[in-house]
Amino acid sequence: MSSFSDEAFSLEFFPPRDQVSRERLVGTAKQLMAMHPRYVSVTFGAGGSTRDGTAETVSMFSQLGCEAAPHLSCIGASKAALVQLLDHYKASGIRRIVALRGDLPSGMGGNDSDYRYASDLVGLIREHSGDWFHIEVAAYPEMHPQADSPQHDLDNFVTKVNAGANSAITQYFFNADAYFDFADRAAQRGVTIPIVPGIMPITNHTQLLRFSQMCGAEVPRWIRLRLAQFGDDKASIRAFGADVVTQLCQKLIDGGVPGIHFYTLNNAEATLSIWKNLHY
Ligand code: FAD
Repeated sequence: MSSFSDEAFSLEFFPPRDQVSRERLVGTAKQLMAMHPRYVSVTFGAGGSTRDGTAETVSMFSQLGCEAAPHLSCIGASKAALVQLLDHYKASGIRRIVALRGDLPSGMGGNDSDYRYASDLVGLIREHSGDWFHIEVAAYPEMHPQADSPQHDLDNFVTKVNAGANSAITQYFFNADAYFDFADRAAQRGVTIPIVPGIMPITNHTQLLRFSQMCGAEVPRWIRLRLAQFGDDKASIRAFGADVVTQLCQKLIDGGVPGIHFYTLNNAEATLSIWKNLHY
């Protein structure tokens, strides 16, 4: 029997770009609070492009009474800028941070970076802020797209964990075996921190293929074929997507995962329908 509890869900959001999206996000957030998430996290545009938006959105969630964790990426950032943000978050009572390398938008050089990899950022956070923050890092069951082999990617993940991470969230995937294989290999290397699967609800065929192409997540052929067959029929895509992702989550829960982190894309409906299907 799985010991998975309804407190094991966490949710990810991105900072809204304008006032209308900001107001919409407050409504979305209130709906999703029905899930009693363990915490929510808010993404960060690499190079600091959403710095203020991330901090403001984190503060909005804190005001709703939910633990909120800012993402922080080191690519394109100076040590001084990172330390300033860490101090700001600490002074605001934030206790959890998602520490990433990040990806610079094309055309934006990384010459201002004092740090090259997420493991360097984890090291900085520990050096500067001690144990104040619970540090989440990213993991890639299907391998990070820039890694030269699954073995080297795992080596780099282990380095990042040993630099002081407390838990990890994975890139999304649609094949549960990829997650279990990665978690087993990490455990064999002595990794004991929780590795929480990141789950992407399926709501939009084109967007899913675009995201997956960028981040190296495999969309299985049978899912691609079914989505193509639905064409512009959004309701069928959503219904099919909810079924597929619910089954994936159930398989992961049955296999003993320590939590589930939903990439909500600032949308309540898709995540809520999967959560309800899971009977939480
Ligand atoms: P790293 O762990 O540094 O790894 C990056 C690459 O470098 C990998 O190929 C790794 O194998 C390699 N590597 C690591 N260390 C070394 C080393 N010492 N020597 C040689 N190679 C090494 N991006 C954003 O911009 N903002 C966000 O808010 C954001 N949130 C995310 C949340 C989650 C849960 C996930 C999974 C990803 C997120 N991303 C975000 C995307 C992420 O920034 C990219 O995937 C990025 O390309 C890698 O970031 P990382 O922290 O995994 O990097």
